[in-house]
Amino acid sequence: MNHKFFLFLSFFLFLALGLHAQVPVDTLGPQKQRVDIEHADVFELIQGRNQMTQKLLGDVELSQDSIYMYCDSAIIENRRERINEVLAPITEMSDTFVPVPGGTQFGFQGARHLLLNQAEGQLNTGRLMRSLMQRAQDMGIEWQGGISITAWTETAGGVTLSTAQGWALTVSRVLLATNGFAQQLLPDWEVLPARNQVLITKPLAKLPFRGCFHYDRGYYYFRDVGQRILLGGGRHLDKIGETTTELAAHPTIRAALLHLLQTVILPEQAVEVDRWWSGIMGVGQQKTPLISAVSERVVAAVRLGGMGVALGTWVGESGAELILGESSS
Ligand SMILES: Cc1cc2nc3c(=O)[nH]c(=O)nc-3n(C[C@H](O)[C@H](O)[C@H](O)COP(=O)(O)OP(=O)(O)OC[C@H]3O[C@@H](n4cnc5c(N)ncnc54)[C@H](O)[C@@H]3O)c2cc1C
Repeated sequence: MNHKFFLFLSFFLFLALGLHAQVPVDTLGPQKQRVDIEHADVFELIQGRNQMTQKLLGDVELSQDSIYMYCDSAIIENRRERINEVLAPITEMSDTFVPVPGGTQFGFQGARHLLLNQAEGQLNTGRLMRSLMQRAQDMGIEWQGGISITAWTETAGGVTLSTAQGWALTVSRVLLATNGFAQQLLPDWEVLPARNQVLITKPLAKLPFRGCFHYDRGYYYFRDVGQRILLGGGRHLDKIGETTTELAAHPTIRAALLHLLQTVILPEQAVEVDRWWSGIMGVGQQKTPLISAVSERVVAAVRLGGMGVALGTWVGESGAELILGESSS
């Protein structure tokens, strides 16, 4: 099997050599190679044997000195060193990406290219949520779960929220933060649900790696959790089927995840799945979150693009500032 490992990035990159785009680069002279990426809706980074390829999709804006270039998509190929140079001011590391020769120490079957992102980290999301709830409670914020909002209406006196439980409440202002479920209350907003299947194994006697790994453009993701492995993804195997808010199994995708676990990630030992579940992300054509006023008293902060653990605090804070009228933008 010819498995290639890919990395998916969610922050700004730039590049230099071999730019393929509808832009007049020839006029810039042969010695000027540095191209800065000002904007692109989607960034994808693919690691090949000797070089990297960046795919930029949607509303791409590049610049070289004072010359700006615009296109719908661009493919940029260059060396890892140049990417690290441009990332350095952001990550404050001279070598954000380092190759992991062979990657054989992890025991992944057929893995030929592995790249370590030294700026990436992992956290325990359960503890994160517990701390957040504790902090809110300490500040006197009441937390009410298990109530489903079916509709909202704004009046001069406030916002009335109807619940699936059959009663309603009126509040002065609302921040809608329902992410992948956003269209249920904001039908015109460009936020689609994207379901993902996830498994966690039973504790393993021997765990051959620690850390989090992205595979196949980031569509698969796995990490250690104590002595277990958590593996999720495979949405690209049925994107239409997984465009749903229904928390349910997808047998074909679950079978693919199991196959990946048994044949590539842990080919050397027997492994048992302890539990399966599914989760819903909020995605759109653009990777950027939507943080915007819906009306005078209602703000929405949604479409976290599958990066809400990393972006959530910033998105939440921005939404809160907007609804409190403290936004600097
Ligand atoms: C499998 C998987 C893996 C992920 N991995 C990563 C990762 O590695 N890194 C990363 O940064 N992000 C990751 N994410 C994305 C991250 O989990 C989300 O971006 C983040 O949870 C979004 O937070 P949120 O609070 O905006 O929305 P959610 O966590 O989705 O919370 C929305 C809440 O709103 C509730 N709700 C919805 N509709 C209503 C309604 N009508 N009335 C009342 N309540 C409602 C829902 O029940 C839910 O509790 C992953 C997501 C999934 C599914």
